[in-house]
Amino acid sequence: MNPLLHLRDVTRVHGSGATEVHALRGITFSAHAGELVAVMGPSGSGKSTLLTIAGGLDSPTSGAVLVEGTDLVGLDTAGRARMRRTSIGYVFQGYNLVPALTAAENVALPRELDGIGAKQARAEARAALEEVGLGELADRFPDEMSGGQQQRVAIARAVVGERRLILADEPTGALDTETGEEVLRLIRARCDAGAAGVLVTHEARHAAWADRVVFLRDGVVVDETGADPVDVLVHSEASA
Ligand code: ADP
Ligand code: MG
Repeated sequence: MNPLLHLRDVTRVHGSGATEVHALRGITFSAHAGELVAVMGPSGSGKSTLLTIAGGLDSPTSGAVLVEGTDLVGLDTAGRARMRRTSIGYVFQGYNLVPALTAAENVALPRELDGIGAKQARAEARAALEEVGLGELADRFPDEMSGGQQQRVAIARAVVGERRLILADEPTGALDTETGEEVLRLIRARCDAGAAGVLVTHEARHAAWADRVVFLRDGVVVDETGADPVDVLVHSEASA
């Protein structure tokens, strides 16, 4: 089966000349439907760059980025934006909700931008909020919710409309342990339901929610393991 996400020999160079930074140096990486892959590595190793390129928020200097078989590199800006609205859900560390919109309006936004009717977008948003256990809070504004609730809204927004690639960059970074685990459980459940997930984390305990763990250092994959917590600890110490 073809992977839902496939990065082939991807490089990303920032700047030029004396200030040139090689954020990614030829990475090949896949995530299949039903699979959650954790990405670990020291600060500056290229984890966020990998994720923004996989999500079409940044473009590689060279290489191919296939999402559901479509190479994002070959698309124009509008085409990439369309892929982001229909195939790719992104969850950031800071929830990135629109403060002036309610939870339901935040979740409906990508669908409305995609041109489906407001009524259907609203119905899908309600269903996605139910899925993350926030059906009751649909009409609240972000500043009327806890951090964990806001991050669950962000997950609902990332999955609404059956998007099948979920990219999460340290999504639990601002949350307490218990709330963080709940957020990871929701991402795991989405992958069990057929999405492909990529989770950037620096905590071995969180990587245990994944099916496998990929370790980056200096823009390359240096190691890979299953998600057994002991293996993750041993490998993260070995590749740090
Ligand atoms: P991580 O998420 O693993 O901490 P990043 O992907 O954010 O790493 O960064 C990888 C490298 O690329 C770092 O050296 C970082 O300083 C550099 N970098 C990232 N974004 C930019 C940018 N927009 N301009 C210049 N350098 C950048
Ligand atoms: Mg980062």
